[in-house]
Amino acid sequence: MNVERYACDACGTRLEGRFELGPLARLGPQETAFVELFVRVRGNLKQMERILEVSYPTLRSRLEAVIGQLGGPWDPQSPQ
Ligand SMILES: [Zn+2]
Repeated sequence: MNVERYACDACGTRLEGRFELGPLARLGPQETAFVELFVRVRGNLKQMERILEVSYPTLRSRLEAVIGQLGGPWDPQSPQ
């Protein structure tokens, strides 16, 4: 999935082209909300358990799924 057009809400200017999305922008709405919360609680999974009312294993599996969609765990041998 790529973006082909940007439009300015203020003045209506349109910019067309072929814009690559970064890995975060390619996440679905649920995964995006998950990552947003993860960052806003500074990665505190205990706090996320309380907010989302899900168990730790559920949270971990959702986190692993997002990590997979971002290209897998960080690899110091091939950082990107
Ligand atoms: Zn504008």
